Amino acid sequence: MDFEKAAKLFETLENASSRLEMTSLLAEFFEKTPESEIPWLIYLLQGQLGPSYESINVGMGENYIEESIAKISGYPRKEVNATYKKLGDLGLVAQELISKKKQRALFSEKLSLKKVFANLLKIAKASGRGSQELKIKLLAELLNSASPLEAKFITRVPMERLRLGVGDPTFMDAFAINLISNFEKFLPKEFKQVEKQLKEKKEEKRKEELARKAKMRIRELIEEKYNIKPDLGFIAELLKKKGLKGLDDVKIEPGIPIRPTLAERLPSAKEIVKKLGKCAVEAKYDGFRIQIHKKGDKIRIFSRKMEEMTPMFPEVVEGIKKQVRAKDAIIEGEALAFNEQSEEFQPFQVTIQRKRKYEIKKMAEEFPLKLFVFDVMYLEGKNVMGESFKERRKILDGLIAKGDAIELTKSITTDNPEEIDEFFEENVEKGLEGIIAKDLNASYIAGARKFAWIKLKRSYKGELTDSVDVAIIGYFKGKGKRTKFGLGALLTAIYNKKSDSFQSIAKIGTGMKEDDLTELEKILSKIQSKGKPARVECEIKPDFWVLPKYVIEVIADEITKSPMHTAAREKEAGLALRFPRMIKLRSDKTPEQATTAKEVVSMFKAQKHVKAE
Ligand code: AMP
Repeated sequence: MDFEKAAKLFETLENASSRLEMTSLLAEFFEKTPESEIPWLIYLLQGQLGPSYESINVGMGENYIEESIAKISGYPRKEVNATYKKLGDLGLVAQELISKKKQRALFSEKLSLKKVFANLLKIAKASGRGSQELKIKLLAELLNSASPLEAKFITRVPMERLRLGVGDPTFMDAFAINLISNFEKFLPKEFKQVEKQLKEKKEEKRKEELARKAKMRIRELIEEKYNIKPDLGFIAELLKKKGLKGLDDVKIEPGIPIRPTLAERLPSAKEIVKKLGKCAVEAKYDGFRIQIHKKGDKIRIFSRKMEEMTPMFPEVVEGIKKQVRAKDAIIEGEALAFNEQSEEFQPFQVTIQRKRKYEIKKMAEEFPLKLFVFDVMYLEGKNVMGESFKERRKILDGLIAKGDAIELTKSITTDNPEEIDEFFEENVEKGLEGIIAKDLNASYIAGARKFAWIKLKRSYKGELTDSVDVAIIGYFKGKGKRTKFGLGALLTAIYNKKSDSFQSIAKIGTGMKEDDLTELEKILSKIQSKGKPARVECEIKPDFWVLPKYVIEVIADEITKSPMHTAAREKEAGLALRFPRMIKLRSDKTPEQATTAKEVVSMFKAQKHVKAE
């Protein structure tokens, strides 16, 4: 496929004003893309060169990118740099300078998607001596044959700015639409039943309804597989080749992260028991959630964002080797700094220091992390996600040998709210966050929250609301004392899973220190968006829109109704945070892992409930 076609699609998507428009553009394009090329297209659309968990580092220093542009456009480096200062995006610089190229290309060929992907991958993989020159050469080779539009998007890949704001759910919707158009071919058995039930209805209506139902079901089936193998390129190729049957080939495998299950919240122990009856109640540790994949001696550790973080946790890797009594397994737990002498948990600020790339060895000695394991998803070739939690905990009991590095989470089983409250207080006193109650009969629900887990945190009890995690969708220039930081306040949103959109909930100008303002401006200015991003629903206009990428944790006095905000909007009013204060950047969360509209609604209701008590 010619890369030109992909570049045109990128351009249209960049200017798309709604998610629906994006979905139909993508569905149409998938239809036309050959099956073997579809993964390349999808990864590029995600601004990546493979699934996120492969962590292929596409980045290249700005200097080197400028060098490549200078090389093929004939403009001196100084001028390339000046244009960059003016336009703020090397993609636009490449587009502009190539359109007024000073020298004619010697060997120019029409670019194919294959060639573009292959060169970009070579750039990502180049390492060691001479690799910088090689990267410059490989990029220049592409730019040499590129049209201005193609050059804009190619350059944005090593700049790590290609993300077009297409969310994973949008891709999956597009796959489902695409399959529906090939409906007859792919109709699975279960839909025959639906068809029968709808037979009495009028022809047109019947068809429409059948298609809608089938699409929803197809979408669910795709997501089920995506939850255990979050590789949209791979899934798209299978769908294209074999239709829905292709999904049978997607299996859970050590080395490929599973999308983590999520916790709901309820305001009291009483309500938890009302919901779950007899349940397991565990201590809630405040550290890093990690998923550990063991395949013989090969151990890989993934964050909740599904990024590989193995080098960050050498003592956990050692512990797994010593204490896990299985050849192959996937388990999950929370790792946090623990002082063996005083038997005290260290605060999150100590644990998070491990995020630095250097001095890991020193940190591991000074503040060793302890892993508290709470789940198992795979054991010796068998997917155990479908087993009940009770069964899985039993498996864990037998799986982890005694030792210093790993322990099972502290847990009680009860249907007595008073006992839960006692356990809660006990844990809070020890410096933990609270408790998580678990449905004894639930399977491991990858990627979703369905009351299999319910959290009750310290902060719910004293204050009206728990903290919320919101995605940044825009920012305002600093005024007065904040002018010099270039940023004065943030515009933030919660995530609406149903509509796959970000809905505004608060403008936040409090809680940031001066360093935070500088840092936020630095990272946000890199992801500015020309207009309101397609998946953002917001009526307030910030000075700068940004693509949803960063998540911050925020506390507020309460949740109120507001006509200004669009969060969980009903009729005229949405929900808003009153007196919001930023606590910290949640670098462990993706924007789609921000607090959801559904959660905010239940927090809003719970708050009224607490008030009434
Ligand atoms: P939150 O981040 O507030 O939504 O709470 C859910 C998180 O609590 C999970 O993602 C885990 O990182 C963490 N956590 C701590 N202790 C446990 C536990 N015993 N079981 C499950 N999750 C836990």
